[in-house]
Amino acid sequence: MPSPLLPQLQHPLHGEAQRPQSQAVFEAAQALFPGGVNSPVRAFRSVGGGTPVVVRSAQGAFLQDVDGHRYVDYVLSWGPAILGHAYPAVVQAVQQAATQGLSFGCPSPYENELALLVKTLMPSMEMMRFVSSGTEAVMSALRLARAFTGRQKLLKFEGCYHGHTDALLVKAGSGVASLGLPDSAGVAPSTVANTLTLPFNDLAAAEALFAQEGEQLAAVLIEPVAGNMGCVPPAAGYLQGLRRLCTQYGALLVFDEVMTGFRVHAGGAQALYGITPDITTLGKILGGGLPVGAYGGRADVMQMVAPLGPMYQAGTLSGNPLGMAAGLATLQALQAPTTYETLTANTQRLTQGLAALCATHGVPHTLTQVGGMFSLFFGEGPITNFAQVAATDKAFFNRYFWAMLQRGVYLAPSAFEACFTSLCHTAEVVDYTLEAAEASLKTALEAA
Ligand code: PLP
Repeated sequence: MPSPLLPQLQHPLHGEAQRPQSQAVFEAAQALFPGGVNSPVRAFRSVGGGTPVVVRSAQGAFLQDVDGHRYVDYVLSWGPAILGHAYPAVVQAVQQAATQGLSFGCPSPYENELALLVKTLMPSMEMMRFVSSGTEAVMSALRLARAFTGRQKLLKFEGCYHGHTDALLVKAGSGVASLGLPDSAGVAPSTVANTLTLPFNDLAAAEALFAQEGEQLAAVLIEPVAGNMGCVPPAAGYLQGLRRLCTQYGALLVFDEVMTGFRVHAGGAQALYGITPDITTLGKILGGGLPVGAYGGRADVMQMVAPLGPMYQAGTLSGNPLGMAAGLATLQALQAPTTYETLTANTQRLTQGLAALCATHGVPHTLTQVGGMFSLFFGEGPITNFAQVAATDKAFFNRYFWAMLQRGVYLAPSAFEACFTSLCHTAEVVDYTLEAAEASLKTALEAA
């Protein structure tokens, strides 16, 4: 059925001048929030500043701004809205739950229901704990890994983001293992002194580091498909290699599946690549648009967590019934038989179409895609790590981004962020996007 919303996209280009309400709201927000936003990338600084999309409402594959313009949304609240915005069954589940009380601070059956479904989809999560964000999940997982192993050092990878917990705000060294240096003011150097970094996808570098430090590593923390430097898939055998090293040296393998969980496969990246991590962190889709995260894994490891064990972690709103209801309704809806085939097919229709357009217009490009996440990098591939991402043409990306926005397509506002698709991004929506992309590539080339 044709989307009733799509024709409304065929409006003339709307630049900032056509968005006076958005400008007014964003202007007022400057005095209230640092940069006018409640999370930095929303301020559009990475694409040169200007007025962000100021949203009035969202439905299906579309955002509507306060000026009445409609956009195809490839950000999807940074990942959660995999069913499309305001999916009726999720909205109803939240409305129903709300009538029974917003938060109990006591055990409830709703927590069990969501946990059982998560465990069925990700059997490595033998036990888990619900929290309220991805950051909290990762922070807790690290504390747990240290508590379980009695070791202090962590290994993370250049270009991977794991939330804003102090120990992980580390600027990676340029291609060599280096002791962490804080990447944010306010992080004590001592806090990151035990955070080691390596380039993503370099197994030889990991082997060398393990030979030196393996006995002191509590955890190896990785986005199994990197999504915070754009979408960068793991090289063949890379995750298996990390699994082998962790087992050999007694370090815990932590998969940060806050982004990839339920997005690249029903069972996350661990099911897609057939790897069993010791601990997994979840967020985003898990809460179906409400603030829910989780960490979980091997039962012997999880038994370290209070009140069973000595590792303390708690949360006033953890497992709250609204979040549980939204998460459960979302994961249940995703169990429809062809969900991931459809998501992947429509995403590939887009990435293949984009690749063809770039080739036709002579634009150097690399397309990456896993399930419902993808990136279009403006540079010749292959793209396997952060250094290669950083070398792509960001100025061209920014021109393309603004040209797409003017044509009603909202891409992640940074060359370093992955884009997401939902089940509402049908072939028809994709084809509209490709039309906009062809015109936008031309605009970006002309402006060069
Ligand atoms: N881990 C990954 C892989 C993420 O992409 C993010 C957020 O984008 C986080 C952790 C932090 O999650 P949150 O923003 O919910 O704190």
